[in-house]
Amino acid sequence: MSTVNGQPDYIVVGAGSAGAALAYRLTENPQTSVLLVEAGKAAHPYSRMPISFGLFIDRPGVNWRYFSEPEEGTKNRIIPVPRGKMLGGSSSINGLVYVRGQTLDYDTWGQLGNRGWSWEEVSKVFHRMENFEGGDRHVRGQDGPLGVSEVPDQNPLYDALFAAAESVGHQRNLDYNGLDQEGIAKTQATIKTGRRMSTAHCYLRPASHRKNLEVVTEAMTQRLLIENKRCTGIVYKRGGQNQTVLCKKEVILSAGAVSSPQILELSGIGRPEILQQHGIEVQHELQGVGENFRDHIASRIQWRIKVPNISYNDKARGINLIGQVIKYAATGGGFLSLPSTPIVAFLKTRPELATPDIQLSFIPYAVENPKRRKLHKFPGMTFICYQLRPESLGSIHIRSADPNEQPAIRFNFLHDPIDVRAMIDGVNIMRRIVEAKPMDPYRRDEFNPGKAVSGDAAIENWLRETSETAYHPMGTCRMGPDPNAVVDEKLKVYGLEGLRVADASIFPTMPSGNTNAASIMVGERASDLIKGN
Ligand SMILES: Cc1cc2nc3c(=O)[nH]c(=O)nc-3n(C[C@H](O)[C@H](O)[C@H](O)COP(=O)(O)OP(=O)(O)OC[C@H]3O[C@@H](n4cnc5c(N)ncnc54)[C@H](O)[C@@H]3O)c2cc1C
Repeated sequence: MSTVNGQPDYIVVGAGSAGAALAYRLTENPQTSVLLVEAGKAAHPYSRMPISFGLFIDRPGVNWRYFSEPEEGTKNRIIPVPRGKMLGGSSSINGLVYVRGQTLDYDTWGQLGNRGWSWEEVSKVFHRMENFEGGDRHVRGQDGPLGVSEVPDQNPLYDALFAAAESVGHQRNLDYNGLDQEGIAKTQATIKTGRRMSTAHCYLRPASHRKNLEVVTEAMTQRLLIENKRCTGIVYKRGGQNQTVLCKKEVILSAGAVSSPQILELSGIGRPEILQQHGIEVQHELQGVGENFRDHIASRIQWRIKVPNISYNDKARGINLIGQVIKYAATGGGFLSLPSTPIVAFLKTRPELATPDIQLSFIPYAVENPKRRKLHKFPGMTFICYQLRPESLGSIHIRSADPNEQPAIRFNFLHDPIDVRAMIDGVNIMRRIVEAKPMDPYRRDEFNPGKAVSGDAAIENWLRETSETAYHPMGTCRMGPDPNAVVDEKLKVYGLEGLRVADASIFPTMPSGNTNAASIMVGERASDLIKGN
């Protein structure tokens, strides 16, 4: 297949979690040709190493390094918004934590009128995409392309934390990706034998020999070509030159929750007042583009530890890092093989809730600054909390007709009182667990924010002053049956032919957990819908 002269059946824009899975599935049929257009590079030498999560958090070249608008609710801070920019997209830089979400999440999608997206249907897709050796075989997949395994790292801190959580009433869960998410658990991660399982590795590499799949990297889509309400192709820029590519059947936008609405707006699809403000001719009015934006807001508490050599602040700092590098090279284990958190907990802030409403992540070290990820000189540990299904809605809209200028990202974090309540309760729960007796031998003192920050008002103020994104933007091209939705249940953009969206932007509501698994599921499911038309 030739890139520019030949016409593929489908053009997929963005080779991230969803786009790579979609391109892989579509090209299983040798009669179907796909051009996959990715703005980022093919790879980075460190990407397969899980700890690259920390290295890439603010790294030019592999990360779009977006930032939010200053907003009153978060004290006018500008919050960094990392997104992956290479094959595999955010799955190539993310924290590798693997969470499907709750059955309730997808039943809610179904209940909102999205036929084919309730738990019964999407669980089959999760099953076929996974390669995981634990859990109930009827629920968990063992033969799929996506490698998932439980974190093998051992540490007395983890055992103490499990005991502490149990002592205050939170049960252990041996498979939180099974039918019941509740409890504290060892993290399941997109890692196998110490190597990152991005969609670049799990989906694109095995498809690389296929003659019907062409992947173009360092090619940034500028806009869609729309003629008489039909999308006929795209214009992308590569090496300073604009290229026009037409396709025979459809364009599928998989550029992620920040870029998919941006590309729609740059192409004249969206709210007329926003398009006109930037001199863009309206091709098609769609009020929902860029709206319904949600993300997880994360708060972090840090403690000093009194026992030496169990925290990675001791085990991986300075000269000891060399030992960890040798360990990783020899065994694939240790600090370099860790996901962003080796322990997760899905808990209810109130006993009367039907399912967990917060997620906690425990980290056996403490960093000075989340952006720089520099380890503190003293041994520490960190607990992070976010509310699983935030109610606050923000937006992502272009602020220029120039594709190189990032859109305006407005989180609107902590706008809804439900979110504020759950986050305050989450802070109290993290403290209760770490202050429980089984942690006595390890815990020294809470140094961030410190015990002075207690009581609802002080905690809320601290949350507004310090919380950051957990990197799970979604919902900006929402799927739904109503006039404010952007795509229908087949992921087709309302009112246009030849155009679908398939990535985290179509989520109607937030899945309860980290969003990589759900994004890949959307890519997989999109292939079924396209094949079935
Ligand atoms: C730092 C970080 C940590 C995270 N940690 C976790 C975690 O531990 N567990 C988890 O489950 N989730 C995690 N996530 C979230 C998860 O990775 C994302 O939800 C998921 O990858 C989103 O998939 P997507 O397909 O929607 O978008 P992406 O994977 O971001 O893919 C979009 C792709 O489109 C490309 N693109 C964008 N614009 C254009 C354009 N104009 N032209 C061509 N290509 C373009 C991008 O370069 C990218 O490759 C994390 C995310 C980040 C950024």
